[in-house]
Amino acid sequence: MTSRTQRTRVAVIGGGMAGSAAARQLLRGGRDVVVYETADGLGGRARSWHRPEIEPDVGINLMYVSFYKLMTQLIKEYGLEDELVKISSNVWISDHGKTVPLSSDSPLSLLTYQHVGLRDRIRFLLSTLAQVGRKKQLDLFDPVKSAPFDDGQSATDWGYRQVSRRGFDFLLRPQIEGFWNFACEEISAVHARALLAWMGGSGFYVLRNGMEILAEKNAEGADIRLSHEVTAVQPDGAGVSITAVGPDGAPVTEEFDQVVVATPAPIAAKLVAALPEQTVGAETRSFLETQAYEPALSVSFLVDAGVLPAEAHIVAGGPEDPPLRNMITYPRTVRDEAGNPVEKLLVFAYPGRANTRRLLGRSPEEQFAEVTQLLPTLWPDFPVERAEPFQIAERPYGFPIPAPGRYRRSVRVLQEQRAPVVFAGDYFNSPTTEAAMLSGIRAAAALTKAG
Ligand SMILES: Cc1cc2nc3c(=O)[nH]c(=O)nc-3n(C[C@H](O)[C@H](O)[C@H](O)COP(=O)(O)OP(=O)(O)OC[C@H]3O[C@@H](n4cnc5c(N)ncnc54)[C@H](O)[C@@H]3O)c2cc1C
Repeated sequence: MTSRTQRTRVAVIGGGMAGSAAARQLLRGGRDVVVYETADGLGGRARSWHRPEIEPDVGINLMYVSFYKLMTQLIKEYGLEDELVKISSNVWISDHGKTVPLSSDSPLSLLTYQHVGLRDRIRFLLSTLAQVGRKKQLDLFDPVKSAPFDDGQSATDWGYRQVSRRGFDFLLRPQIEGFWNFACEEISAVHARALLAWMGGSGFYVLRNGMEILAEKNAEGADIRLSHEVTAVQPDGAGVSITAVGPDGAPVTEEFDQVVVATPAPIAAKLVAALPEQTVGAETRSFLETQAYEPALSVSFLVDAGVLPAEAHIVAGGPEDPPLRNMITYPRTVRDEAGNPVEKLLVFAYPGRANTRRLLGRSPEEQFAEVTQLLPTLWPDFPVERAEPFQIAERPYGFPIPAPGRYRRSVRVLQEQRAPVVFAGDYFNSPTTEAAMLSGIRAAAALTKAG
């Protein structure tokens, strides 16, 4: 253990956006920090794949949104402004292949939107304005602020009262389920209301070389152990011991004064199973054990420019779980084998919930073949025979589901956070990089407060 003259040693388990932000905060508080990360790079779910022939790197499609305050501050601080590439947020909603535009920041687009009647469009606009009026409290990133609104209603309970069922299913549901893949029946109304409060007029950007650059900058100064999977967290006097398996396959145990567990919740629950209740309280343990996730599968293709709208999010509308929930198209210049530039569209396809579960873990050949067959369900004229398979990314812990009441539970767990073991991750607030980083900072602050 640390003697009085030594600095406090803190282990951060997980080098995603939450863990890296915790590391930054701890380093600023004068701690010695070791980051254990099972992957071969930092960034977690925000880590891109990199294909040199595609630029900017839209990888897993991590968008930075202009209302992310912490990220805005970090991008400035790290001098990354030139890395930001603005992308368009043109949303198209499909009703069984009939696809029409709906721009979230244009009242005119809403008023001319064809999938729902005028009465619903007006009611939706009024409801949006009412949420905008509560913007400060309806916070996607801070459960303490949003918990008072988390009254047990689901997004559908709430939405069906604001507009008709069809109005909700073709106005708000696709903009939630298309992007996060969870069912509106399963999530808190807070999530839907906060989105309405914040999304209008927002700018969307990608970081030219992937979002993980922020995780890398955040963790600079820490001892970063990549390809190290933590397998056990044990009590050790006043501190904690961590066992990790490195690239050589041999488990190594080290002692620390404090720990931030910044893995997805189900992994965190397993890692701390051996710790006593005075270290991990009952509320925290039950919270970690009960967080559910929707997995994500992103399958991308290259097609000729012009066959689909460019810079579009084409999203399935309607109450059912669609075969394919979202298609995102980016114009890209690709080098052919002779090195000549060719104008293409890079199309990301995201299957619906049942298809994602069914296809996860299958071979890339099967995944490409099956998803190719699904493409016309969202865009009937999709040139299936000319779609060139490009890249696949799987995220088994894709999106933590903000179940009704979850924000309230988050607050109780945050109140229970105390040294030597604290927790961080997007499952405290919302599946966004901003929320993940803020949870990391909050967790680190609970440790630095403790001395
Ligand atoms: C397909 C997809 C698209 C998304 N798009 C956006 C977007 O456009 N904008 C946005 O803001 N957010 C987006 N998100 C959400 C965002 O990526 C996440 O909310 C955020 O990255 C979560 O960060 P985290 O640190 O909480 O968790 P994670 O990123 O999951 O980090 C946890 C880390 O712990 C590591 N780990 C796990 N177990 C161990 C172990 N035993 N030992 C050591 N390390 C371990 C993991 O490898 C991982 O690096 C998207 C998510 C997905 C899946």
